[in-house]
Amino acid sequence: MPHFLSRHCCLFAGIFMVGWVGAQPLTRPGDYFQQELAYRIEVTLNDSAHTLSAFLSLDYTNNSPDTLRFVWFHLWPNGYKNNQTAFAKQRFDQGSAKFHFAKDEDRGYIDSLDFRTGDATLDWEYHPEWIDVTKVHLARPLPPGGTATIETPFFVKIPEIFSRLGHTGNHYEITQWYPKPAVYDRDGWHPMPYLDMGEFYSEFGTFDVRITLPSEYVIMATGDLPEGDPEYAFLDSLVAVTAEYYALKKDDDKPDKKARKKWLKEFDKREFAEPGDSATKTLHFHQERVHDFAWFADKRYLVQKGVLWVEDSTRAVTVWCLHLPDVADLWEESIEYTHDAAYWYSQWYGTYPYNHVSAVSGDMAAGGGMEYPNITVISTGGTKEMLEFVIMHEVGHNWHYGIFGYNERLHPWLDEGLNTYSNIRYWYAKYSEETGGQFSMGFPEGLSKVMKTPFTMRSLSQFVTNITVGAHDDQPMEGHSNDFKPTNYGVIAYYKSSVVFDFLEHYLGEERNQAAWDAFTETWSFAHPGPEDVRAAFETTTGQNLFWFFDDIVKTAKRLDYGVSRMVASGDEVKVTVTNYGDIAAPVEVATLDRGGNVLENRWLPGFSGTKTVTFDGEGAHSATTDPGGYSPDVDRSNDHLPLFHLADIFLHKPTLRFLLSAPEPGRSQLFFAPMLYGTAYSGLLPGVAFYGGVLPPSKNALTGGLYYSLEQKRLAGSAGLALTRYRLWGADQLSAKLKYSNYPDYSLVRFGAEAIFRERAVSSPALKTSATLTWQDLTAAALDTTLLWDAGAFTSAALNARYWNHAHTLLDWDLAAQVRAVAGGADRLATILQGDAKVSYRYASKGKVKIRGWLGYALADRDRIPNQYRFWLSGGLDADLGNPLAFNRTGSGILAVYHQLYLPDEGPGLRALTTEVPGTAAWALNLDVTSKFPIALFADVAGTNNGQDESWQTYLNAGVILALGPVKFIVPLWHSWDAEGEQPPYKGLRIGISLPRISLGP
Ligand SMILES: [Zn+2]
Repeated sequence: MPHFLSRHCCLFAGIFMVGWVGAQPLTRPGDYFQQELAYRIEVTLNDSAHTLSAFLSLDYTNNSPDTLRFVWFHLWPNGYKNNQTAFAKQRFDQGSAKFHFAKDEDRGYIDSLDFRTGDATLDWEYHPEWIDVTKVHLARPLPPGGTATIETPFFVKIPEIFSRLGHTGNHYEITQWYPKPAVYDRDGWHPMPYLDMGEFYSEFGTFDVRITLPSEYVIMATGDLPEGDPEYAFLDSLVAVTAEYYALKKDDDKPDKKARKKWLKEFDKREFAEPGDSATKTLHFHQERVHDFAWFADKRYLVQKGVLWVEDSTRAVTVWCLHLPDVADLWEESIEYTHDAAYWYSQWYGTYPYNHVSAVSGDMAAGGGMEYPNITVISTGGTKEMLEFVIMHEVGHNWHYGIFGYNERLHPWLDEGLNTYSNIRYWYAKYSEETGGQFSMGFPEGLSKVMKTPFTMRSLSQFVTNITVGAHDDQPMEGHSNDFKPTNYGVIAYYKSSVVFDFLEHYLGEERNQAAWDAFTETWSFAHPGPEDVRAAFETTTGQNLFWFFDDIVKTAKRLDYGVSRMVASGDEVKVTVTNYGDIAAPVEVATLDRGGNVLENRWLPGFSGTKTVTFDGEGAHSATTDPGGYSPDVDRSNDHLPLFHLADIFLHKPTLRFLLSAPEPGRSQLFFAPMLYGTAYSGLLPGVAFYGGVLPPSKNALTGGLYYSLEQKRLAGSAGLALTRYRLWGADQLSAKLKYSNYPDYSLVRFGAEAIFRERAVSSPALKTSATLTWQDLTAAALDTTLLWDAGAFTSAALNARYWNHAHTLLDWDLAAQVRAVAGGADRLATILQGDAKVSYRYASKGKVKIRGWLGYALADRDRIPNQYRFWLSGGLDADLGNPLAFNRTGSGILAVYHQLYLPDEGPGLRALTTEVPGTAAWALNLDVTSKFPIALFADVAGTNNGQDESWQTYLNAGVILALGPVKFIVPLWHSWDAEGEQPPYKGLRIGISLPRISLGP
């Protein structure tokens, strides 16, 4: 439209032209209702048996237009009862066998239920699929507007902490613990089993909970203590004790570590009564307008206290932080984090309505923290920055799940996505002036300093998102929690959602965005908004049809990818052509930049597909880019930026060199470099630099390599590799073409490869990977200490590989591979070699596996025609095609020489106690490994070979132990079946193996 070609159009012109629907007030749908609950619970903690004995009395008010005959109740402690629960199945399907193998005494359950109304015993039955959900039939039909009182005793055996509810010794995290009605809303009942990955949906109400427990416990819970003076005095006394600890500082105001250590030691020496053997206290907690109640108790908690003034400083909210002594230093500023989170969220989503906001440290295992009304439990931190991030995130859930009671199970992007988006808002609001939103997320502190463009909360969220989206492994934001691949639950429901709402804010501008949130807050606080209500808040307040956002971005995995495809000067103007390379017609921001990369002029274009040309003022314009501020969830930034074509400016196209790692920069492609040191026996040390680009997030084109100097041979050395990858093409998940060139004193190598991976999107296995490679290599004779293992000279090998694996079953893994390889070179070496292996692994305990590998090899040639390194060496393969970067030393001598000391676990027959060299033209092997929770494993191998020319078959057996130190394994043979006399000198009885976690994709 010509309007958009005019030079001085308003920044937001596009907004008014796209799908104008007119601003309207936001209201709840006419048929909206919500039920009202009032809980009274009396509960006693038995801290020697780790159980709860309790009684629930619930007033259920039916505000629906329907008459109810039953109520679905959640009995979530039963999720920990056996291996058939939805929780157990989910953990198992996700690859964790911890709960599967848990002992009965460590599991948990809820029982002793006897639902009644007055004198009438109520019929109840378990859900047909889930023992942690029950249907309770009411004594009489509950009409619209009616209230039923339902009562039951209940008994909970508290499990060890496998997920959320649990105890570690006498540390208690009492969550998802009482019989709780499912939500009944416009769409009917929402019963749901307990899940680890997948949160909840709960009715609002009032909680009146009396907790009886030994008086020495420090406890924090949802709600206030109406008669809490003695308990508050107890907490205040601990605040004073805790303050003593933090006062231990040196003259320069830094913590006095020595004094603090001593203090904690004394603090830990305090004597407590034996469990079950001390006076008790009963605390009465009360809270209105919340939808859950959780409590946390430990005798060792240190306590900090602060205050948050809200509503023009007329109301004080108490800020509590309780933490265990081992994280005392980490938690030193925890009051600030808790306070600031509640402060900023109060600005954006309505004033914090409760009287306390608290964070406690704990062992909770379902993520880094977990939110409950008023109170959050934090299990990780690592650095103070990460602790602030996690506390801020969990406190933020007081709004995005607490005040806005979403159905999180069905729409995890609502609570997690909108909350993580708010985390970006928080970080920029609190830190923008000091650090521009910089966030290192666990990177070592020094790393941010060497980054030219350090990660910010925004760029890191985009980076994390694009690791998955770049690999085409993402799923739509909208989806049931249990349908997400676990990594996507984090990447998509949290990070992608945060990135796209951050972009929406940038597009709308802060004011319009906040207007939408204000309307949403006014309409939906203490209620159950759904995805359409979030959409309505934005569409009614902005007057726009935001289909590109709420239909395309939210509901599909379509890709957003604009770029500048052409820029030409015409008179004193420049014409910039923008191309939509993606599938979403979202609005796009385009800008011209000067020579230094500064924005000269920018404007928004309404969404389109195909191309669109815009005219800008040409003065000083050197290049053009889409998304100049770096806000867009654009999946490919390499096509965003284009210089005006002058011959002199051709280098504007070159990638920007960056040290180590930096945040992606709008309008630039980056090439990273890092110092690196290699070494081999022949080359000596090889200091130099490694370089890489397009690797993280994965890009269609990736470059890797390095340039080194051999101190021993006094010459340059290095390698360069290029990988071109296309996704979802010709029935394959991923197709790659690879080229590699290496030139080291020890060898030169050129390799072409083509690779196809077949698997379903967002599923890591089963998968089939096929590849073809052509390798030319030239081994330097002088570099080889022995020609027994390696022939010097030039060899060409062509190989076809196929590998099929299925690691989808938590107990059983299997993996098949086959290869055909033809190799030629040297004097008259020429052979075709077939080999294959099958691996099966069975998990017999939470941390114990039995692994069996079978291997077969056959050469279609006389033994003398096979180059030495391609022969079947019984101890394992030699990585003859030089493809394994972990095989440092191919010379045949030295501590890491392949074959003699270094064992490549997946190559060749793998007879691990080294044998005499008896390569044949046919060989077979079986390898057995038994691992356990201890860093020691047993192994046994049997292998046979036709022993070269004379064709007589011989069999070899050995056994021993493996000591594992991370990925490095020391192989200690204890017994072998053959005469040791003929063993080669380097054999010293010990070998080293290196195995990295199996990488299922890519090179
Ligand atoms: Zn969260």
